[in-house]
Parts: sequence; structure tokens; C-alpha cells
Amino acid sequence: MDGKRKPDEVYRNTRKIAGPGIEVVIGEIANVNPEQISVSVNGHEYKGDFMVISLGVEQITEYKLNNFGHDFYTLDGATTFNEKLQNFKGGNIAVVVSALPFKCPAAPYEAAMLVESIIRKRNNR
Ligand SMILES: Cc1cc2nc3c(=O)[nH]c(=O)nc-3n(C[C@H](O)[C@H](O)[C@H](O)COP(=O)(O)OP(=O)(O)OC[C@H]3O[C@@H](n4cnc5c(N)ncnc54)[C@H](O)[C@@H]3O)c2cc1C
Repeated sequence: MDGKRKPDEVYRNTRKIAGPGIEVVIGEIANVNPEQISVSVNGHEYKGDFMVISLGVEQITEYKLNNFGHDFYTLDGATTFNEKLQNFKGGNIAVVVSALPFKCPAAPYEAAMLVESIIRKRNNR
């Protein structure tokens, strides 16, 4: 959002966490079986002694809020928001939490402070 890192610096290669005793499987989990402690990926069944399910959440686009503002929760959103901030000519900026729950409770506060810092440096706070 503040343009300090380019998009290709934001991502890390997940395969690099592979090591002794750690296998990285890339693919879509088609089925989770908690009783068997297993998942199926690409038609293959993986079984473990324990299971951590961490499928994340995706922002809903139901209200099409991106038509009215900008988000910093996606790479595209943060990139576009940065472009807008670079061209910001002054005025009020509202940081809106549109619904609960949302990813990362700290993010709106962090965003407010980053926005303030960016536009203060540009002398149009
Ligand atoms: C802007 C922002 C700032 C944040 N800042 C912080 C912070 O400072 N500190 C902090 O602790 N947290 C922060 N968070 C929150 C943190 O990023 C999330 O809580 C964390 O990433 C959640 O991890 P996760 O593994 O549950 O989900 P994710 O990181 O979303 O990962 C889930 C993965 O599962 C994959 N997946 C989903 N379904 C399937 C399927 N069927 N098969 C295969 N793969 C699938 C998804 O594609 C995704 O890659 C922030 C989040 C945002 C958006």
C-alpha cells in the first residue's frame, strides 16, 4: 500500500518450506475427513496423526465496495490504492470496516497510520 515493496517482493515460494519430514503438496483439497485425519488432493489421500485446517477466508464482493473506494486486503487493491495515494490532492480519507468479522483486526489501524504517514510526507495531510 505504501509502495515500498514491488508485487514480486510480496510473495514467497511455498515450496521452500520443504525439508526433512516436511512434504509440500500443491493442489486443491477436494475432501477433508476429520475422523480419518486425512485429506484428498489431486486424487491422492494424505493421512496424518494430527490435522490443522487453515483454509483462510476470502473477501466478499457482494456489495461491490471497490466501486466506491479502495481496499488494501489484496495485492491488486493495495497497488491501486497506492497509485491513488500518490495522486492524492488533499481532503478527508475514511478507513471503513464494512462488516464483521474481517481479516486482521489491526489492519484498519495500521492502514490509517500508513495513510497519514504517506500523505504527511507529501505535505498534503
Ligand atoms: C492486510 C492484512 C494484514 C494482516 N496483518 C496481519 C498481522 O500484522 N499480523 C497477523 O498475525 N495477521 C495479519 N493478518 C491476518 C493473517 O494474514 C491471516 O490471519 C492469516 O493469513 C490466516 O491464515 P490462514 O492460513 O488461515 O489463511 P490464508 O493465509 O488465507 O491461507 C489459506 C490458504 O488456503 C488455500 N485454500 C483454500 N481452500 C483450499 C482448497 N480447497 N485446497 C487447497 N488450498 C486451499 C487458499 O488459497 C490460501 O492460500 C493480516 C491480513 C491482511 C489481509
